[in-house]
Amino acid sequence: MNPTILVTGGAGYIGAHACVTLIAAGFTPLVLDNLCNSSAESLRRVGRITGVEPRLIVADIRDAQALDALFAAQPVAAVMHFAGLKAVGESTRDPLRYHDNNVAGSIGLLQAMQRAAVRTLIFSSSATVYGEPGFEQFREDMRCDPVNPYGRGKWMIEQMLGDLAASEAGWRIAALRYFNPVGAHASGLIGEDPRGAPDNLMPAITQVAVGRLPKLRVFGGDWPTPDGSGVRDYIHVMDLAEGHVAALRHLLAHDPTLLTLNLGSGHGISVLQMLRAFEQVLGRALPCEIVARRPGDIAAYWADPTLAANVLGWRTQRDLHAMCRDAWRWQQANPRGYASA
Ligand code: NAD
Ligand code: UDP
Repeated sequence: MNPTILVTGGAGYIGAHACVTLIAAGFTPLVLDNLCNSSAESLRRVGRITGVEPRLIVADIRDAQALDALFAAQPVAAVMHFAGLKAVGESTRDPLRYHDNNVAGSIGLLQAMQRAAVRTLIFSSSATVYGEPGFEQFREDMRCDPVNPYGRGKWMIEQMLGDLAASEAGWRIAALRYFNPVGAHASGLIGEDPRGAPDNLMPAITQVAVGRLPKLRVFGGDWPTPDGSGVRDYIHVMDLAEGHVAALRHLLAHDPTLLTLNLGSGHGISVLQMLRAFEQVLGRALPCEIVARRPGDIAAYWADPTLAANVLGWRTQRDLHAMCRDAWRWQQANPRGYASA
């Protein structure tokens, strides 16, 4: 019997890719998602890719009864906790909604895990927890001082996980701090499908390419970076998903522990470099305009991925070309995301 892994938020962008890698690695994903930012179509597509469509329970992580029923109905070996709201700007406008969904939701999930004696957890954290530490390369032992409600929520959850692991024996926890996930499964069947206008760079580029947006707005050309545009560490979503399986295998094979790991490539890429790489894949130039800096952005940061390499034996495999190629294949085949189906 393949061990069952509860995947909260598994119908979403990263969660659906994680389901693919879990199935390939011999696990059975069981998805719990309230579909507030996703569509069940993503899981039908996971079924087309792998031959196994993950079971979906449409419920909220704040629904204690649904969680108890789920844990009572089958043995669950571990939880991958992706469910959460993720728009930084929205979190500033409506912090209580974010803290209710992300922080209170995580508390509810952890309490249900405690009741069910399931103590193995992989948590989706974010490089946002670092804030602006004054260095460009972020390492796990740096002081965290997030600058927006979304990041503060992730940091609160990380601290709570530390308190929990210290209070009760048996917890195996990995808090994974993602840098900038982009790209899609190489089949083009699953990918990033933002609702409304995209906040993030890669979906903005692919939507310009497909004609949904008139031009790419480059937020700032006067940053203290080599070409003046912002620099980030982009990670192919399949590398990220494989990092989760590596973390899961590590947790299941070792003594109880609390790990906090960066998942990134270790390389900084600028907005203009990303745009040029995408244009190469596309074979034509895209309209773009350099506009004012976006409030809250910082100039440049990327991961120090050494710890994840040492602990998990995991590192990124896919390059910038693969990120652009796969993002484009997904967007081209699904110009309106899953609604194109
Ligand atoms: P996503 O919005 O595509 O997926 C999140 C999923 O969680 C969605 O399917 C949504 O319907 C579900 N969800 C949200 N609140 C829920 C709730 N209360 N109960 C049940 N389901 C709920 O986002 P994603 O990009 O796949 O991100 C997954 C996780 O990774 C999030 O926690 C996010 O904060 C974190 N993260 C994402 C990024 C990124 O750039 N995409 C970077 C760092 C961290
Ligand atoms: N960016 C941009 N135009 C866009 C979206 C993003 O120039 O339409 C820039 C943004 O200023 C940052 C980088 O792209 O320098 C990555 O932004 P994104 O929102 O994707 O991720 P973040 O690093 O902010 O989480």
